[in-house]
Amino acid sequence: MTDTSHTGPVRVRYAPSPTGDPHVGNLRTALLNWVFARHTGGQFIVRIEDTDRERMLDGSLDRILGALEWLGLDWDEGPGKGGPFEPYVQSERKVLGKYAEAAQQLIENGHAYKCTCTPERLDQLRQRQRAEKKSTGYDGYCRNKSDEEREADSAQGLATVVRFKVPLEGEVVFNDVLRGPLTFDPSLLQDFVILKSDGYPTYHLAHIVDDHEMGITHVLRSEEWISSTPRHVMMYDGFGWEPPEFVHLSILLGPDRSKLSKRHGDTALLEFRDKGFLPGTMFNFLSLLGWSAGDDEEVMTREQIVEKFSLDGLNAAPSIFDITKLEWMNGVYLRQLPVETLSEMLLLELEAPDGLPESICRPIDRDYLTQLVPLVHERLKKIDREELSGMLAYFFQDTIELDPAEVVQKGMDEAATASALESSATALESAELFEAKPLEAQFRALCVELDLKPRQLFGALRVALTARKVAPPLFDTMVALGRDRSVARARRAASLLLHGQPIS
Ligand code: GLU
Repeated sequence: MTDTSHTGPVRVRYAPSPTGDPHVGNLRTALLNWVFARHTGGQFIVRIEDTDRERMLDGSLDRILGALEWLGLDWDEGPGKGGPFEPYVQSERKVLGKYAEAAQQLIENGHAYKCTCTPERLDQLRQRQRAEKKSTGYDGYCRNKSDEEREADSAQGLATVVRFKVPLEGEVVFNDVLRGPLTFDPSLLQDFVILKSDGYPTYHLAHIVDDHEMGITHVLRSEEWISSTPRHVMMYDGFGWEPPEFVHLSILLGPDRSKLSKRHGDTALLEFRDKGFLPGTMFNFLSLLGWSAGDDEEVMTREQIVEKFSLDGLNAAPSIFDITKLEWMNGVYLRQLPVETLSEMLLLELEAPDGLPESICRPIDRDYLTQLVPLVHERLKKIDREELSGMLAYFFQDTIELDPAEVVQKGMDEAATASALESSATALESAELFEAKPLEAQFRALCVELDLKPRQLFGALRVALTARKVAPPLFDTMVALGRDRSVARARRAASLLLHGQPIS
């Protein structure tokens, strides 16, 4: 099946507005556009839509471009890259007069008009409409002005906007690639502003002018834009231009099926980077929000996703942003990393000021860390400094802070635990081969000797050696700590239980 009826190379765009921290949903849109372009051998264009000057936020553009780069979504045309339709920033395109000219074109061919209604009049109108329980919107006051009236307006130098003339009858129909033909009643859409009084275009005008000039063939954007699309289709009609194919991507929901928002936790893409998710995981995870390859594969490389992608695989049903699945997937990606690569990544995190506790000297021993990585590899879900430090600090510390109550296991008292730990220290001292397997055999025998369950002895030892109830396999931990430290920690814990303080 072909992707759409369009012929010729695919040209798609990601058109963010720099008004905040880029949201995962927004980057999902960018990603699917990118994948579609790469799959078809087309072009992926980045265009910055900064015409809403009031909502612009400092630093937002850098974060948007940073997020694209982090995900590996390289663009063929756009900021920093150039291209045949430079500039790719709308405020710069405005200076070139592109939008004013387009608005003028619509005025001349009878599809738009100048409006000089004051904010006060519009406010009163709104209040009246509300009082009469009518839907609010422009009443067309300036639509039918005579030429003389318009000239008088312009002689007065009144603030002027340009409005699109919405047809008063008929219907607006457009085809959504995922949903089929959608029909709208234009009488519900009042004459909307396309050029503001400060000369800036509204989004509606600006993006159409640019999509047309830049030869955009498919518009993949979030479902939230469906209600605006009838306006766009009417404008394409007014210009006499061919509209692109519209593909409105499914809405993202939180696990409770309400619209994904801050309430559900992190929603800014770079927060996931900062919390230790790998770009490969994020790429894979975002690609599956509203798209599936049609097989059961979920974990796929970027190349596989590009290869398997098709518009047919997109689904209009809402997609759930499931953080548990994301964490699971990140674990899968982390486990796929070679130990050396992971070790290098962990080194950077652990050596950071908020990595391992300050008391641990930097630089940390690279080889030792590489030896430890296999012990935690299985349990890693993300590269989180605090979590990593908790998992690994005790390997680097001379002494660890113990909670005696945690050392004592169910069915044992302090004295019995201390004595079991003493026997363990002696066993460790005398162990012939300080390796996990023989140590385990030796300690299982010790359990029998001491009439303890493995759960009891191993539990006490685990806390004594690591100060944690959850830690890597006990005997691997002993080996990684080394004989001397293992013996010392077992003895110290015993002494703590008996005397309330360690005897050094
Ligand atoms: N600038 C719009 C946005 O923020 C673009 C919408 C579109 O893709 O048409 O999201």
